[in-house]
Amino acid sequence: MSDTVRGQQADVIVLGAGIVGVSAGFAARQRGLSVVLVDRREPGSETSYGNAGILSSGSIMPLNQPSLWSVLPTYLTNRNAALRWDPAWTIRNLDWVVRFLANAAPSRLKPRAAALHGLIGASLKLHRDWIVKADAVQRIRETGWLKAWRSDAVAAAKAEQAFLAEYGIESRILDRQGMSALEPSILPVYKVGLLHTQTASVDSPGAVVKAYALMFARSGGEIRQSTIRAVMPDGDGWRVVLADGAITARHVVVALGPWSADLLRPLGYRVPLAFERGYHREFKPNPTRPLQRPIHDAEGGFLMTPMEQGIRITSGVELTARDAPSSFAQLDQVVPLARGVVEFGDAVGEPWRGARPTLPDSLPMIGPAPRHSGLWLAFGNQHIGFTTGPATGAAIAAMIGGLPPSFDVSAFAPSRYL
Ligand SMILES: Cc1cc2nc3c(=O)[nH]c(=O)nc-3n(C[C@H](O)[C@H](O)[C@H](O)COP(=O)(O)OP(=O)(O)OC[C@H]3O[C@@H](n4cnc5c(N)ncnc54)[C@H](O)[C@@H]3O)c2cc1C
Repeated sequence: MSDTVRGQQADVIVLGAGIVGVSAGFAARQRGLSVVLVDRREPGSETSYGNAGILSSGSIMPLNQPSLWSVLPTYLTNRNAALRWDPAWTIRNLDWVVRFLANAAPSRLKPRAAALHGLIGASLKLHRDWIVKADAVQRIRETGWLKAWRSDAVAAAKAEQAFLAEYGIESRILDRQGMSALEPSILPVYKVGLLHTQTASVDSPGAVVKAYALMFARSGGEIRQSTIRAVMPDGDGWRVVLADGAITARHVVVALGPWSADLLRPLGYRVPLAFERGYHREFKPNPTRPLQRPIHDAEGGFLMTPMEQGIRITSGVELTARDAPSSFAQLDQVVPLARGVVEFGDAVGEPWRGARPTLPDSLPMIGPAPRHSGLWLAFGNQHIGFTTGPATGAAIAAMIGGLPPSFDVSAFAPSRYL
């Protein structure tokens, strides 16, 4: 194994410098492999930039869980801010929709929760370690995450708390007074709250990914900014064709987030990847009434996170084609609701749109491509990719080195779909 990249040959080429790719690159460097990390943009400029910045200990229940059935009728009207869907896309992708709904069966909840719990636990450890090593520790807040209900949803909060407790995940139920004491700036619109006490958040996910990328570069990794055109077998390794040349390596890691399926299709892999699109808009905070932590308005269908540039409001899910034109209907619906919770001023910058990459079982693919040696898949991290990126990347680096990852990856095997 070489220590640095010589010419255009490396041990590992990582495709995509979002949180997953940067993490895979850094973890591979830590194992002494020479690594080239390729992205057409600067690290952390796409999905890993615009998310809500939550490092969630408790997101072990995917969107397609049994309670989805009870809210499904409200989604059918296409007016719920939590989920909008494009009928034409749905008809074209009925196979994905049926498989996604089939995973909401009660019997499918616990195995997936256990798998995600292992992935999240491993990842939070890495984040807390790496953010210090990357000189970005000032960006993390250990203040938890508040899920809040406007209705008297004590039973729902208790059920969620009990489920999380089965996995050792701590949370605290709060009433109106408890929430006011915790978060004095919010108006008393919520009746019930569930504070995920072991959850952290950051004030700029894009900046955190950039800091991790710098740490990767400092460790001897090479970052190359170029568009990836194709990946093809080359002897007993791989050739990656870029807009401005080609690189070869023994191993290639596909960590292209919502773009991952495109590059795999010419190799014969039809990846059932859909796009849970989401939006954000940031607003000038009132400095005398700051928010201390992210708040999830459970019935309003949005999140508010205090960020470096202002209060970031993130929307729910829009199920449609990845590159379909933006629709700001969900943001328009929730911003007035958010104004009724916390004071904030004018918008800062333009609205942002991204796409959560999601497989039918809401579990990522982490592991080897079934029919090609040296091809590794690391994508599909849905709503929790910023949280789970580090352990996704570290697991791939371990497997490249022939070692078992630090958590059970069997549920994430790409062979379950390919
Ligand atoms: C609104 C919203 C809120 C979210 N909130 C949270 C949250 O609070 N917590 C959480 O854990 N997760 C959250 N997520 C999910 C999380 O953001 C994603 O799961 C995660 O960022 C995916 O990371 P990634 O590295 O797989 O993809 P990306 O960050 O998208 O990285 C993929 C990279 O591939 C590059 N690329 C693609 N094609 C090419 C090509 N042909 N050539 C060169 N480069 C290419 C892109 O430029 C990009 O940099 C949220 C997502 C959204 C949309």
